[in-house]
Formats: sequence, C-alpha cells, structure tokens
Amino acid sequence: MAYKNHENELAFRRRNYLKNRERELQRFRAYRMKHHEALLQRGEKYRQVQSEQINERQRKYYHSHPEFRKTQIVKAQRAVEVRRKWFSELKRNLRCSICGQSFPDCPTIIDFHHGGMESKERGVSRMANLGREKKVILAEIAKCIPVCANCHRRLHYLEMQKKKKDVGKIHKP
Ligand SMILES: [Zn+2]
Repeated sequence: MAYKNHENELAFRRRNYLKNRERELQRFRAYRMKHHEALLQRGEKYRQVQSEQINERQRKYYHSHPEFRKTQIVKAQRAVEVRRKWFSELKRNLRCSICGQSFPDCPTIIDFHHGGMESKERGVSRMANLGREKKVILAEIAKCIPVCANCHRRLHYLEMQKKKKDVGKIHKP
C-alpha cells in the first residue's frame, strides 16, 4: 500500500497492531509453545557464541542506567533474602543424624557435614548466603549429613584425635 508520507504509514501500522494485538500475541505464544525446545536450543547456542558481546553490552547498559542498576540490586538482594529464608526453613525441619535432635526454634544449629572435609561444609552455608540456585545447594547437601553444632564439633574433634593417633603428631590443616 502506498502512503503519501511515512508518518501516515506508521500511524496505520500502529492502529492495525493495536486492533489485532490480542490475536498477534496469541499467535506469538502458540509459536513459542510449538517450537519451545528448538527456541531454547537456539537461545543457548546464541549465548555461547556471542557470550562476550552479550556480557559487554549488558555491562555497558548496567553502568549507564542508574535506575536499572538500582532495581537490579534491589531484586538481587530480595532473591538472596528469599534463598536464605528457604535454607533456614529447610534446616528447621532436619534432625541431627547423630543425636536425633531437631531445633525448630533455632535452625542455625544444624550444620552439613561432608565426611571430614570441613571446607566443603562451609560451602553449603556460603552457597545459601550468596543466594545460589536451590538445585546447586540441594546437590551439595546430598553429599552431606545434617548434624547439630555440638555433634559436629565432637565429630571433628574425634576425627582429629584419630588422625593425631594415626600420624603420631598434631594434624595441620
Ligand atoms: Zn547432634
């Protein structure tokens, strides 16, 4: 269709879009549903190939849009808060694998023990404090046993005593 000027054409397109907006959106949604897997793969490939350009673009945008930055920070803080609460609730329902006690009024007493690897136990709480994904935290928890702080300390003390005896000298971490 020929238009006398560009502005008329734009106005026509806009009117047309608004008139058919619902139908267009529905068509778009149907397309996405039908090609869901293929679109995911395409997106994944695009992100892999273009990752540096994408990061650079996002960095620039982030630093040049203070309002966006503010909302992102608030969102991230909220997400971390939600994750910490979830982690705390999870511990509230756990029992110590050694003495069998649970601490519903003080879930911080429950630790996660990684068979002698102390640094990794710090990993689970740190993950939760940083607001890492649930599935990452749960995968790490799956490698541990829940123990109360008392039993945990005793466990490590006994392990250390055993090592001292085995090695015949003080264990240095
Ligand atoms: Zn215990």
